[in-house]
Amino acid sequence: MTQVLIVGAGPVGLMTALGLARENIDVCLIEAEDRIVYTPRAISYAWPIFAPLEAFGVLDDMMAAGHTVDARTWRVFKTGETIVYNHDAVRDITDRPYSLTLGQDRLAEVILKHLQRYPNVAIHWGTRFTSLTQSDREVTVLADRQGETVEFKADWVVAGDGGRSVVRKSVGIPLDGFTWPQRFVATNIRFDFEKHGWNSGYLIDPIYGAVIYRIDEKNLWRFTFAENASLPIEGVLPRIMSFANAVLPGDKKFDLVLHSAYNMHQRSARSYRAGRVLLAGDAAHLTNPTSGFGLMGGLYDSFLLSETLAAVVKGAAADGILDQYSEERRKVFDQVTSPVSTESFRLVFNSDDEDRFASDLKRLKERTANLDEMRKFASVPAMLETRSLMTGRTFSESASLRRG
Ligand SMILES: Cc1cc2nc3c(=O)[nH]c(=O)nc-3n(C[C@H](O)[C@H](O)[C@H](O)COP(=O)(O)OP(=O)(O)OC[C@H]3O[C@@H](n4cnc5c(N)ncnc54)[C@H](O)[C@@H]3O)c2cc1C
Repeated sequence: MTQVLIVGAGPVGLMTALGLARENIDVCLIEAEDRIVYTPRAISYAWPIFAPLEAFGVLDDMMAAGHTVDARTWRVFKTGETIVYNHDAVRDITDRPYSLTLGQDRLAEVILKHLQRYPNVAIHWGTRFTSLTQSDREVTVLADRQGETVEFKADWVVAGDGGRSVVRKSVGIPLDGFTWPQRFVATNIRFDFEKHGWNSGYLIDPIYGAVIYRIDEKNLWRFTFAENASLPIEGVLPRIMSFANAVLPGDKKFDLVLHSAYNMHQRSARSYRAGRVLLAGDAAHLTNPTSGFGLMGGLYDSFLLSETLAAVVKGAAADGILDQYSEERRKVFDQVTSPVSTESFRLVFNSDDEDRFASDLKRLKERTANLDEMRKFASVPAMLETRSLMTGRTFSESASLRRG
């Protein structure tokens, strides 16, 4: 019996556990795998999220484990033209004017290290959620551990079990939206992009569009492209080779370290709450990752959910606040995450209308000459945050108040 059972030790499940643990809530987390899952996925965190990460106590360790990036380049594949965006426009509103690059598995490791300090947190690895039943008072969860059925009872359950969430399916919440006809192929490669004057950023082209990001100091880069989702997945390796051959500068010699193909969606659960079960992260919503808003949106879910759920468990708020959590976070997905990510995806990977592309390019360039426009653009990730449902403040406002 625990107060909150969290399904999934992805970054969102772990961050929610940390938020609850810090509020002295008893947390039990079950994870299907035996360890943190490593696939080449989220690596980038925009500056506005540093305030909540600092409040949760993990920012310094994240900074130590990753590296910061000031400039991002938009490169037009056909012409080689580049437009560079940096963080100059937000230097007066943040003392951390950069983004952070850190693999989401490394983020999960950082959070896990923090969680180990809390005696009120139990983590069960190799324990796969299979089903649940709920009453007015509690939830009974069944899980599979090496062929044995294990039963847990909890006051509340949080689904942090990712896009294919079995928890979401078991409470019958539909996932509204659509799946793109393209899939993403994410690769980690060793290649000296900087020797050829390439920085982290985007390559814009309807065929050769790509997201290119330096992962570490040893020339490990994330290189992600899109392909027709109906192509057979078995042929992906030769397609990676021919794509890289067409796109990389210089001698094109690279080492492929890892690759993984993903279907892409713009989908959101119809509600992020079903009685005593709450959804967060990819279990609640899925976006194409061009803007890097997938995990960031999920982390903002976990910041809000851990605060509101802790208040409900402690009797400091009525459980209706959890409906507000659901409504507010769904609104952020519908109004910010999904439209912004869709627009970035269109520009980088689907810029096949020449007139529209010309005006997109003009807009990208004009923005660099206008500090206000650059500030607005660089501040879009701040719109992923929902104000605290308890205090009405953002994390930055709370931090300023604390500093006096
Ligand atoms: C190519 C690519 C690049 C991306 N880049 C970015 C980026 O730059 N920035 C960004 O913000 N986002 C990015 N994203 C999105 C990001 O990866 C996801 O939003 C993020 O992984 C969501 O975290 P999560 O914890 O909700 O789910 P997950 O990371 O999927 O974790 C779910 C966990 O639940 C476990 N689990 C699943 N089923 C069960 C079960 N039945 N029982 C127990 N445990 C279970 C899984 O093993 C896993 O550990 C990218 C995604 C892709 C595909």
